[in-house]
Amino acid sequence: MHLIDGKAIASRLRRSLKDRVQTLKKQPHLVVVLATDHPASLSYVTAKEKAAIEVGFKSRIIKDKFTEASLLKCIDELNQDSEVDGILVQLPLPDGFDQNKVIDRIDPTKDVDGFHPHNLAMLVQDREGFVPATPKGIIRLLKESNIHLKGQHVVIVGRSLIVGKPLIHLLLKENMSVTVAHSKSKDLKALTLPADVLIAAVGVPNLIQPDMVKKGVIIIDVGINRVDGKLVGDVDFEALKDVVEAMTPVPGGVGPMTIYALLENTYEAVLRKEETL
Ligand code: NAD
Repeated sequence: MHLIDGKAIASRLRRSLKDRVQTLKKQPHLVVVLATDHPASLSYVTAKEKAAIEVGFKSRIIKDKFTEASLLKCIDELNQDSEVDGILVQLPLPDGFDQNKVIDRIDPTKDVDGFHPHNLAMLVQDREGFVPATPKGIIRLLKESNIHLKGQHVVIVGRSLIVGKPLIHLLLKENMSVTVAHSKSKDLKALTLPADVLIAAVGVPNLIQPDMVKKGVIIIDVGINRVDGKLVGDVDFEALKDVVEAMTPVPGGVGPMTIYALLENTYEAVLRKEETL
């Protein structure tokens, strides 16, 4: 089995991005807004801020006990601040917040998470916009690993806005045949068995078992699940080691590529502005 080492690939890409950042006229500035006390969310935003500073960006976290109204006001201020290039509001939001209303408020030219309807529409139309970080990171991971995509059959398990749905369009753009399985699919195994490439983005530990895939499949495990204090993916890694041609580990697979893709989006936000000046 070939281990798709997202940690090593992301580290190499970050070094190259750091060099490109030096050639910009303006230092990219990423602001991450956190409205919850959720420990996992706090660790994600801290990792994002750290990676941003490491590649030469300016970055800060705004963490507050927001109401929906004060969060919208904060976004308005960041939209108007010409110093700020990228705004990321960490999801999920606290219960009762209208997620669509919050996302709609972000200036699409600063929406480095790519969830604003403008950017999602650009994605569907194969036009230039911000692509959500996890799907963008997955495509980059596949390409950096020289995995043949054109004409291959990819099966995505999971249809969330954050991962599964944007992936459909990105993989179609790579000329793959795309199947999507989800919680209401009748026979998951029948859908996953023919996959040349399987992408699991579910949030159920060890859901994908050896009898669900064909020998030589390539697996991208997006899942991050905490089991007995340990992080595991959606794929039974140990059981599948001898079946797959290549597979990502958890942790150290998709996670670091997600952070890299966010940095690249922020860099692109500045580049696009400088190119249109
Ligand atoms: P989500 O809960 O929004 O979506 C889960 C999807 O899985 C849904 O579309 C649902 O239909 C499907 N599903 C649920 N049970 C299923 C089953 N038994 N069979 C088939 N499909 C089923 O989750 P999400 O935000 O897309 O995240 C999915 C996983 O990926 C989580 O573990 C999350 O922590 C992880 N994640 C990782 C990264 C990363 O950077 N590595 C980024 C985002 C999410």
